[in-house]
Amino acid sequence: MCTEGLKEDLSIPFISPLLSHRNYKSVSDDLHHCLTIGKPKLLFISRGQVVTFDGTADTEDLAFNDLLKETVDYTQFEVVDEDVEETLILYSSGTTGLPKGVVLTPDSVKATLKCMGGSNIANIKDSCVLGLLPIYHIFGFIVSTSCLLFGKKNVSLDKFKPEIFLEAIQQHRISKLFLVPPLVLFLAKSPLVDNYDLSSVKDIVSGAAPLGDEIQNMVSKRLGVEVRQAYGLTETGVVTCTPPGVQKCGTVGKVVEDVELKIVDTSSGRILGNNLVGEICCKGPGFMKEYKNDWEATKECTDEDGFLHVGDIGYVDDEGYLYIVGRIKEIIKYKGFQVPPAQLEAILAKHPDVKDVGVVGRPDERAGELPTALVVRQPATEITERRLIDYIAERVSVEKQLHGGVVFVNEIPKTSSGKILRRELIKLV
Ligand code: AMP
Repeated sequence: MCTEGLKEDLSIPFISPLLSHRNYKSVSDDLHHCLTIGKPKLLFISRGQVVTFDGTADTEDLAFNDLLKETVDYTQFEVVDEDVEETLILYSSGTTGLPKGVVLTPDSVKATLKCMGGSNIANIKDSCVLGLLPIYHIFGFIVSTSCLLFGKKNVSLDKFKPEIFLEAIQQHRISKLFLVPPLVLFLAKSPLVDNYDLSSVKDIVSGAAPLGDEIQNMVSKRLGVEVRQAYGLTETGVVTCTPPGVQKCGTVGKVVEDVELKIVDTSSGRILGNNLVGEICCKGPGFMKEYKNDWEATKECTDEDGFLHVGDIGYVDDEGYLYIVGRIKEIIKYKGFQVPPAQLEAILAKHPDVKDVGVVGRPDERAGELPTALVVRQPATEITERRLIDYIAERVSVEKQLHGGVVFVNEIPKTSSGKILRRELIKLV
């Protein structure tokens, strides 16, 4: 891809309206928020849910025209001088709060793309890739842009449908899969997988959300492939990746070229040594310039040494591999103890009768929050709340047990990048 030629076009701020949300009100709120931050001059939206700016609706699917009228007065749009360095605004996921507009520059995007071509990191050069990730999310954006840049075949699907996904891998002899954890979970558990020849797949890279090591192992064994993890944020591009050939489950890998990492104590800010859990801080050339129109938030997350405090907690082992424990804002506080929901989710996901799971803190006057699991049962199974509570109790310390119980649901609400929408989940308990 010739980035020079695209410079003019890329200087138009554009918007990713988080259409993965099924709830109309939620789309409206998010869209309003994103339009307010990004103030776009052009909107690129998929057909089927779109109406044009002149108000001529060509679909009755979604009242998008009204939605736009509700949220912005587009008749007032005018061309203004923009900072040409400000090329791209991507929106962070907003799983616990509202999304932020992350401003990336041409240099930060180039640094991230360079890293994708690296021989021992994402190593996209010799691959035929399945493009299933949404391109408005950093993971999908990097993967699809890298395929253009390196001239790789990228078979794109607009949404996940189990049979079509498996059929596309088989038919196009896909060698590399960039996936988010719900799709890895699908490959681990779905009986459909056995009906297809997936022998072309050599490498699976999972990112964007936590992946339990058991699920990673299950897929690795079932398909006879490497399953590696990459870690990053909209704000940073790729931070770490497990190099090919490394058999280490549970880790998100080592820092990629030119990125620096430190783990700090969340209360004192002191730098911690190996194997000690603290906040992950990093800096590198692929990092954002700022949060759009939010100087306070930009300042708040950057320290005097230029490191971004990313809000995740984790540790680095003696060999330099990073492990994510959870997000600071998502940690459940049970009687003052910290309970990382991702740990309980990984354990419950292993259970053969559990199709999917999310864990949140149910507010409680005495304990603060009670760890509570929302569980989707595998079809035709009768697993009970008591059995799942006992299953967890046999595997974790007392403060991490399911004191808030289990709620059976039909679906775990997630973003299209595979993150559990905890603000939606909490409403369900
Ligand atoms: P976003 O910028 O919206 O994609 O969110 C970034 C967040 O996703 C990070 O701060 C992590 O909490 C989470 N994340 C990304 N990659 C991973 C991973 N491999 N394992 C666990 N969490 C991840």
